[in-house]
This record gives sequence, structure tokens and C-alpha cells, in this order.
Amino acid sequence: MLDIQKIRADFPILNEKVNGKPLVYFDNGATSQKPQVVIDAISKYYQEINANIHRGVHTLSQLATDAYEISRKKVQNHINAKHAHEVLFTSGTTFGINLVANGFASILKPDDEVIVSHLEHHSNIVPWQMLCEKTGAVLKVIPMNENGELIMSEYDKLLSEKTKIVTVNHISNALGIINPVKYMIDKAHKVGAAVFIDGAQSAAHLKPDVQALDCDFYAFSGHKMCGPTGTGILYGKESWLNKLPPYQGGGEMIKEVTFEKTTYADLPHKFEAGTPNIAGGIVLGTAIDYLNTVGFENIQQQELELLAYATQRLSEIEGLRIYGNSKNKTSVISFNIEGIHPYDIGSIIDKLGIAVRTGHHCAQPIMNFYGIPGTIRASFSFYNTKEEIDALVEAVKKAQLMLS
Ligand code: PMP
Repeated sequence: MLDIQKIRADFPILNEKVNGKPLVYFDNGATSQKPQVVIDAISKYYQEINANIHRGVHTLSQLATDAYEISRKKVQNHINAKHAHEVLFTSGTTFGINLVANGFASILKPDDEVIVSHLEHHSNIVPWQMLCEKTGAVLKVIPMNENGELIMSEYDKLLSEKTKIVTVNHISNALGIINPVKYMIDKAHKVGAAVFIDGAQSAAHLKPDVQALDCDFYAFSGHKMCGPTGTGILYGKESWLNKLPPYQGGGEMIKEVTFEKTTYADLPHKFEAGTPNIAGGIVLGTAIDYLNTVGFENIQQQELELLAYATQRLSEIEGLRIYGNSKNKTSVISFNIEGIHPYDIGSIIDKLGIAVRTGHHCAQPIMNFYGIPGTIRASFSFYNTKEEIDALVEAVKKAQLMLS
């Protein structure tokens, strides 16, 4: 059992007041808050070892390089990658998706097929559409049902020897549904297709084991898992990363440059052109240490309790509909109240100190499926409490009264 008050003391922002009211932060799906250890580690880096990496002979450069590479190893252990060089530092999930989609332009031929799902964030749709436009490949979509689940029998039918890559999120940001990724990976591999997992929403809730999953790529963002913004990881199997061309050209990603021909550096440097977010990469390791100290089992237990409590309490409100009703769900609740625009509810409860997200959550196809402009999304983290959920319920009731 977590001592929530002790955990909350790690996050200075949770003591802030917003609009004169204690902050209730339920926008964790957009970005998580940061514990003091992460905030401190950023200034410690700049105060004590700031230098460029992989290039200087001097001591600070060596210290910074070591810290950066230690962080890569931490990520490797965290996700159970076979090799540290399969772990690429990126600026976030979006970068990782674009890197792989861009690389597949050299592999796909006209009429090859790319499979995405109806539950994707725009980040995991648009780069693949661009890839299809460039190559003449065809984009296929796994449909969803009314509960917000992907229909696996339809997925099975879409797979064929034409399928070259399947891309799906581990957890949907708009509905919180946990997708059956292991099943999907095994099925895709049977037809020889690669599988990309968008782990933007899962990385804060679970510890992905990329070898057990046997996924070909797994991407996530540091800022959603207590780490700094502008950080992320792309895991890729060594064989795939060797096959894909570099994404960006520049310093650090080369072996030798002449005007006639350039040869590229070995992994992971082939994909890490230019000076990276050094402080961010190092401190992402600090964030992962922090989450592991809290413990992913504890995190999941607390979040599932919050989900169950919030589902029950919100269901008390007349005219409230929750979208995404699956037993495979994480701590995200997307809902609407009959006859009221989600934005209006969001604006009123903001005045009461409660931060939620309203709108289409960068997942317009899901909103189109339900025929709605958007939802109100409350996304919980392990540092949230049942008392905060009570505050949300009271605030939503108040807003409903004012608006109806
Ligand atoms: N995929 C999903 C499922 C997401 O929730 C997000 C962020 N909301 C992204 C991709 C993009 O992540 P980022 O903006 O950190 O690159």
C-alpha cells in the first residue's frame, strides 16, 4: 500500500492553489507532474557537469557522456531490451513514430499495406498516412466497437502477406482502453509484418517488457512519466534499426564524411544526429528510478482503485455517459453530460481548481465514431486521491446545475 500523503509531498506543484483553490490535477494523460528529485536533478546537471557529450577529451564532457549512457542503460533495464544500442533517445513519442514511418519509406512498395487502429492519437495516424502517400502503400484501419475496444476478428481479417507494419497504441489516450498488444504482435508476425507500439500512455502505468512482447518498436515520452518535457525513447530491435536508414543527418551520426560519400555511425548514434537534450536524457533516468522506487505494482493498484471509485461516483450524475467501457482499462475516464458542451464543463471546473482536458484529445476518429465533438477527460495518477475525485464530482454537479 502506498502512503499517498508521503508520495504527494514529493510533488511541490500539488501544494499550489489555482484560481484560489487547491489544485486537483487530473490531466496526467497530457503530462504528469514532476517529483522534487527530478526537478533537482535538472539543476544539478547544469550546476555540476554541463558539457557536450561524446566529443570532448575533457573531464566534464566525460562525466556528461557517462551520465547519459548510464541513463540509456537504465532505460534498457527498465524495458528489458536485449541491447543498450536498441534504446534511442528522442524528443518524445511523436519523434519516434516519425523516425520509423520515415524509415519505412525505403521499404514499402505500392499496394503494400500499413495497419493502424481506430483508437490512435493523431501522432500515430498522420506519419503513416504521409508514408502511404509517399510510397503508394495502403492504410488499413482496425475498427472499434461501442465499448471502445478494437475488434480483433476484424484485425485478423485485415492481416495478409501485403501487411508490412502494424501500429497500435498500448493504451488509448482518449478512452484509457488497454489494447491486446501481445495477441496483435504474434498475429502480425505470422504474416511477416513488423509491429510498432505507441507506448505514450502506457509507460507511466506499466513496465513494458519489449522482449516478452516481442514488438519490433516501442516508443514513449518522458514527460508523461514524471520526466522532463522534450525527452523520449524509441526502442527498436537491432535487426530493424540496422535495416532502416538514418532519420536526420548531422554531427555524431557519421563514421566518415567526404563530399563523395558519407558512412554512418553504428547504433544507437546513427539515429542521434546533433546535440541531444543531454540534461533531459539523464534526468529521464532519474524519473524512471523514482517510478521504480514507488513500484509499478503499487502504482497500478492505486490507479485502479481511483478508476473504480471515479467510475462509481461519476455514474451518480444524471445524464452522464462514460465512453470506453472495457475491463481492460487504465485510470482514464472520458465522459460527457447530456446537452452540455464538454468545454463549458471544463472551464467552470477549472475555476474550482480542477484541471481536466476537454476536446477531441488528438483522436478525432474516436469522436467521429461516437458522433460527438469531444469529451471531458479526467486522467489519474498514483498521487491522486479519492478526496480529489469527490471534489471533481461536486464540481461537475455544480457546473451541470449552472449550465442546464
Ligand atoms: N500517442 C499517444 C497515445 C499519446 O497520448 C500522445 C500524447 N498525448 C502521443 C502519442 C504523442 O506524444 P508526444 O506529444 O509526447 O510526442
